[in-house]
Amino acid sequence: MRVVLADLKGREGFVSKDTVAGGYGSRFRTFSRTTAWVHRFKSQYHYTPSVHLAYIAAILAGAGHEVVSTDEAAVDADLAIVLSSLVDYRHETEWADAMRARGAKVGFVGLTASKMPQLFADHADFIVNGEPEAAAVRLARGEPLSGICDSEPIEDLDSLPFPRWDLVAQRHGSGIRMVARPVGGGFPLMSSRSCPEFCTYCPHRILAPYRTRSVRNIVDEIEQMCRLNRRPYIIFRDPLFTESRDRVLDFCTQVRDRDLCIRFECETRLDRLDDDLLREMYGVGLRIISFGVESVSPEVLRRVGRRPTPEVHQQHIIEQCRQIGIATCGFFILGFLTDDWDSVMATIDFAKDLGPTFAQFKLLTPYPGTPLWKQVEPLIVEKDWEKFDGFTPTFDHPSLSGDQLKFLLGAAYTHFYMRPSYLANVMRIHNRLVRGWVDRLDERVAARITRWEAGLVRQVAC
Ligand code: SF4
Repeated sequence: MRVVLADLKGREGFVSKDTVAGGYGSRFRTFSRTTAWVHRFKSQYHYTPSVHLAYIAAILAGAGHEVVSTDEAAVDADLAIVLSSLVDYRHETEWADAMRARGAKVGFVGLTASKMPQLFADHADFIVNGEPEAAAVRLARGEPLSGICDSEPIEDLDSLPFPRWDLVAQRHGSGIRMVARPVGGGFPLMSSRSCPEFCTYCPHRILAPYRTRSVRNIVDEIEQMCRLNRRPYIIFRDPLFTESRDRVLDFCTQVRDRDLCIRFECETRLDRLDDDLLREMYGVGLRIISFGVESVSPEVLRRVGRRPTPEVHQQHIIEQCRQIGIATCGFFILGFLTDDWDSVMATIDFAKDLGPTFAQFKLLTPYPGTPLWKQVEPLIVEKDWEKFDGFTPTFDHPSLSGDQLKFLLGAAYTHFYMRPSYLANVMRIHNRLVRGWVDRLDERVAARITRWEAGLVRQVAC
């Protein structure tokens, strides 16, 4: 059987799928001069091929099927498997229709297809509900799938073959680096699936329970990667890579013992990091850490089931990373139900005070299948599912209008990135004299931004 795996390039803006927003995906559009710059940066450095399709490729190719991939062009094949997303689902269903017109069977995989099969049902021969590997095993055996096919999560993740990047990666990391990431991104790797935490807004934990791979199995995969690529750049896509400190220390030991030359980044919670662990991870190639801060207010976080991390610990870890040479990326969410104008501005100020290398601000988005969705469903006003992209107001907020939320989102990017100290952080300028001068410049720039915004605020109904 000839199979084409489709991870389609988003039509507008910068679209991330696969493991982003648990698989619903996000679409970043330019809406100011600052975000135009962020958009350019993302387009160059944020591409990551789909790890789920790479697993499916390995399973099908391992059974002797011919596997090819595409990010746009229609390809002659017996079967097309399409990675679904919420933010670009119309493009995906149009592509599926074109493939069916050419005589191919079409199936959709991913979180969106699992939770919102009605978006794909008229365009597919089958829809996989759940993590796709168990369904891929059935396909590999020659079992035809139809309708909605439940796919149980694989309990023993070590039993899976390693992803086949040679079959699905349209491009991979090489060339010029920004901080540590090469142009073209890197190879995603999942050392665990799902998340053991309980944040009510999070789509990462709604498809399957939390499971981990053995350290030996992860390092075996990396060793294979190193044989095929010189010093690969690895992006761990676990939402909570350092959940177990001992496991991470064991990982570092095995990478060192096998003399593997890698650079990598991971995502985690700041309360799952300490100085020694950071140094160990840096020693074997850690160059970027991403983490959710979400809000400055512990009370706002508690209301959404998120355990707050003490402010002083967050500041300490970010400062440690700066000293060691690890870049940091903080995630912030604006517009929690208990947020108002002042609390959002306080979160933006907090982002500047913490001073991670990068910050990503999003609007609270109620994703189907999350506890937040149930809570907010009566308030939803957005009818277009593609607008559930993380940057568009989608529900009637109790205290902030849609225009105010959009304004605050724009303000967050401007206030964070349009600071001389931001540039100084990226350039790793730590000289005290220079920093004092940069801080004074920050104040002048902030005053100018505030004056400019005052004019805009008058246009936004308060
Ligand atoms: S820590 Fe919370 S927000 Fe992060 S992945 Fe886990 S459940 Fe989601």
